[in-house]
Amino acid sequence: MGCSVLHADAFEDNYIWLVALDQPNNESQRPTIIVDPGDEDPVLEKVARDNLAPIAILCTHHHGDHVGGAAALAREFNIPVYGPRAESISAVTHPLDDGDHLTFPVLGLEFTVMAVPGHTRGHIAYYSPGLLFCGDTLFSAGCGRLFEGTAEQMLDSLSRLAALPEDTLVYCAHEYTAANLRFASTVEPDNRAVLQKINEVTAQRQLNTPTLPSRIGIEKQINPFLRSSLPGVKQAAEAHVGHTLADPLATFTEIRRWKDHFRG
Ligand SMILES: [Zn+2]
Repeated sequence: MGCSVLHADAFEDNYIWLVALDQPNNESQRPTIIVDPGDEDPVLEKVARDNLAPIAILCTHHHGDHVGGAAALAREFNIPVYGPRAESISAVTHPLDDGDHLTFPVLGLEFTVMAVPGHTRGHIAYYSPGLLFCGDTLFSAGCGRLFEGTAEQMLDSLSRLAALPEDTLVYCAHEYTAANLRFASTVEPDNRAVLQKINEVTAQRQLNTPTLPSRIGIEKQINPFLRSSLPGVKQAAEAHVGHTLADPLATFTEIRRWKDHFRG
């Protein structure tokens, strides 16, 4: 017994991830967990097409493009909605805190809840060995904007995620990889892993296939926001702001600010 992670596309560039039980034949319904349904329509379409049977909804944070379809889907399938206790999301029936465990025996999955504030104050991620659903915290080659939290919170959150096993698949909620890599290659023009990833991602986008999931191991090589303690990233940030930066937090703060205004 295993699971596959499917996706439904929403809005411009959101992915709604669906963790579905693999079945030996097409006739059997597939118990499925829905992650961050910003819109119910693409999910309903996918459910019908792939014979899915939703059993739960997981929300990472309160933004509308992650929770907008949760209430309608919960009603349609009569299923629980999990989400961060620290945020006000009206559809949530099961509020969660850091360290909570969620078990889904029918899928053979157990998730650990990780508090990863920064993009929003109460943002959580869902980790199961080999799998990470991290909403708008970690993107491939990037990270979420600091809408509510501080740079220090975001750096701590990203450090927690970077400490997960390197082969962990990272299911980010947006297709931002190509734009993020343009920034990454500006910060680290000599980073060969970034250049290689740009080639890979260009080919994927030409075929209109997702660049996700990523892996923790590759993110540590290409993502400038996981690399703020490295001398090359520090020097690039210092050159950009025109003064020395005291520590990795100062570097992180400046590259996040730099990216906010970057038009690559
Ligand atoms: Zn968001």
